[in-house]
Amino acid sequence: MEKIPNLDWANLPFGYVRTDYNVRCYYRDGKWGEIEVSSSENINIHMAATALHYGQEIFEGLKAFRGADGKVRIFRLEENARRIRESAMGLKMVPVPEDLFCEMAKKAVELNARFVPPYGSGASLYIRPLEIGMSASVGVRTSTEYLFMILVSPVGPYFKTGFAPTKICIMREYDRVAPKGTGRWKVGGNYAASLGAGERAHELGYSAVLYLDPKEKKYLDECGPANFFAIKDGRYITPASESILPSITNMSLQQLARDMGIEVECRHITVDELDHVQEAAACGTAAVASPIGEIDDLDTGKKYVIARDGKPGPVTTRLYNHLRAIQLGEEADNHGWNTILDI
Ligand SMILES: *Cc1c(COP(=O)(O)O)cnc(C)c1O
Repeated sequence: MEKIPNLDWANLPFGYVRTDYNVRCYYRDGKWGEIEVSSSENINIHMAATALHYGQEIFEGLKAFRGADGKVRIFRLEENARRIRESAMGLKMVPVPEDLFCEMAKKAVELNARFVPPYGSGASLYIRPLEIGMSASVGVRTSTEYLFMILVSPVGPYFKTGFAPTKICIMREYDRVAPKGTGRWKVGGNYAASLGAGERAHELGYSAVLYLDPKEKKYLDECGPANFFAIKDGRYITPASESILPSITNMSLQQLARDMGIEVECRHITVDELDHVQEAAACGTAAVASPIGEIDDLDTGKKYVIARDGKPGPVTTRLYNHLRAIQLGEEADNHGWNTILDI
């Protein structure tokens, strides 16, 4: 192995760091080609490509961790391979075969093994697969050529100053997605549509926006790039909605909750119900679970104070610790979630 990069792992931001290689595969003439390994950070794209004009872009986000035993684990690789296919079908793109996705992700991690942060640093290797429409077209139509590629970047621990609750807000004048729109797929365009609300929330001192269902504005949806869950009377409750992304972290936490004997309810959650929850958190690959201390409804002026003592709740903390321990190989992976690489 080449030498270990001189990076301050524990203080890396959630950002882009150049690594040695990325992997690419083109869909042309009705088939996926050979896997290409590149050390270039650039891609060559036609100026009329559908990705640039009509938003044919989908992505994924997952992580690899250096474990207690020195091995590298990719968390829920197959689930991400499955989900990007759903996104592709949603945007009328050609889906990447799941085995090709998995092979390329493993290759991207193996080729950049020296960038997988050391065990104990709290950092990880973020894996970012993306697919874009490459055909030149000024008329609105789906592409016939695609590029699927995977880049990786080491990222620091999400909680630099400790696992602590933050404040989020509800603002009814913004929607991320339409009621039967693209919210259930991992699409770059959904993020573009949420930048305005996110910036406004940050200006007002909130870490995120808790979006309501875009049709009735009555039920909780999700927190921008993360799902939402709460603990109410000992149950794990999380929104059922057609306009949110099925988070793989949420799915995993639900399974761990059931394993601990906690009942899971996936259903509509009204805003008023926030008065009766004991814990709340945003969940996703970046943070696993990010505790929510307070939710301010900016339209009604109502403040839902959840973490009265300013600390994360006990159930959220247990779930968070359990999932992290599985990712790091410290606890048994009873559900077979990790893909282990001997690198
Ligand atoms: C990626 C994403 C999430 C989190 O999903 P994970 O699979 O848990 O990382 C939640 N909501 C949206 C909108 C996302 O894009």
